[in-house]
Amino acid sequence: MEFEAVIGLEVHAHLLTDSKIFCTCSTKFGAKPNTQVCPICLGMPGVLPVLNKKVLECAIRAALAANCEISNKSRFARKNYFYPDLPKGYQISQYEEPLSTHGWLEIKSNGSKKRIRIKRIHLEEDAGKLIHEHSQNWSYVDLNRAGVPLIEIVSEPDISNSEEAVTYLKKLRSILMYIGVCDGNMEEGSLRCDANVSVRPKGSEELGTKAEIKNVNSFKFVQKALEYEIRRQISVLESGGKVVQETRLFDSDQGVTFSMRSKEEAHDYRYFPDPDLLPLLVEGKWVDEIRESLPELPDVRLERFIKEYELPAYDAEILTASKEVAEYFEECLKHYDQPKKVSNWIMTEVLRELKEEEGIKTFTVTPERLTELIKLIDDGTISGKIAKDVFSEMVSSKKRAGEIVAEKGIKQISDQGEIEAIISQVIEKNQDEASRYRAGQEKLIGFFVGEVMKATQGKANPKIVNEVLRKRLKEA
Ligand code: ADP
Ligand code: MG
Ligand code: ZN
Repeated sequence: MEFEAVIGLEVHAHLLTDSKIFCTCSTKFGAKPNTQVCPICLGMPGVLPVLNKKVLECAIRAALAANCEISNKSRFARKNYFYPDLPKGYQISQYEEPLSTHGWLEIKSNGSKKRIRIKRIHLEEDAGKLIHEHSQNWSYVDLNRAGVPLIEIVSEPDISNSEEAVTYLKKLRSILMYIGVCDGNMEEGSLRCDANVSVRPKGSEELGTKAEIKNVNSFKFVQKALEYEIRRQISVLESGGKVVQETRLFDSDQGVTFSMRSKEEAHDYRYFPDPDLLPLLVEGKWVDEIRESLPELPDVRLERFIKEYELPAYDAEILTASKEVAEYFEECLKHYDQPKKVSNWIMTEVLRELKEEEGIKTFTVTPERLTELIKLIDDGTISGKIAKDVFSEMVSSKKRAGEIVAEKGIKQISDQGEIEAIISQVIEKNQDEASRYRAGQEKLIGFFVGEVMKATQGKANPKIVNEVLRKRLKEA
């Protein structure tokens, strides 16, 4: 029997506000532990939470960008559980009446478009963080993160394999970053993912029993964890067993998932409406204003890049996946209106140099400098091959292309006479190959071009070399 996987993702995203969701403490990452806390986020008795309007605005932006319907009335609820990172003994979240529902994102799967429905996006506060690495015997608690605003984005179980899961996550991250509500930093925990997965006989309509894999925090781990878990569940079924509903963790060193708690041990969160917070009423007029203020989103920009700049879909996809890269590209075009040439350079040399795509904003080789380099190729000053070396040098020395070319004397040789002379020598030295060329082994042209390039340290203008070689080889 063949099986298929069914996956639904729950993504938590930190919202980029200066202060926390219900108090005025800073949300800045990396501060000394417990320096960004107050009686509210420490859960002292008698204090009252007040909703940060900016948090709500960010959440609405995200919900609109994910094609969700915004509820004009939603409600905060208390999710009760006991854990040392949660000073109040409950987390303020939304349960029965979330901020938004019924959204979707479009992803590419196997070359075609597929919609992944989004069940809900709701607001909640983050918990603190336990630190275990300082001691064998003690755990430390840092409450700087307690009360940092989150949205939880819950997908419907529409994802069919681990690649789709990663594509969906990348798309979601890209959108959140485009609209400026999340920095997308998975290492710092600004974007975290719980993956729900089940398997069922191929073609079956019924859902199988799911396992939830908690906190898989990189694209690679999401892929690995899901692949492992799908294989595991299939082999349980194949050997006549039953998948049990449980929460699992991913061990990235071993590449396996293992049980954390079973359904019987599952928490009963005893959700109830938070009596300290009023129902959340959102005016349609404000939602419309926020909708108006949304920037161009990745899909729309992708289509525009294909149309306006006549780029292949492949290029447009890479260039628009990150807002910063897209902006860098368009800035280049202001200096030199050659979309495909600029795109080629960004997709290869530029992106190869960057650890993270967002780093392009502060990249030494600014759009102005990159286009200076491309212009030097186009006006015949240097060859495309030499340009790659110049580019590396631009990155390491922070110098401009023109400066490097002048300093190193690597100007291209385009002088016909000079090239003719070198070619004469090369043919002279390789009589044997020359006669084979004349006898019909035209592929040998590559060998001759190579020899001329060697003789000129790559500085000869390849176009002229090719022309002259073809002519001279016939004559000789
Ligand atoms: P729970 O009440 O257990 O949290 P939800 O209905 O809220 O379940 O769904 C949580 C996540 O699990 C959603 O992303 C949803 O798409 C996914 N999910 C639900 N059922 C299944 C299933 N049988 N297989 C895979 N994913 C599922
Ligand atoms: Mg749930
Ligand atoms: Zn606080």
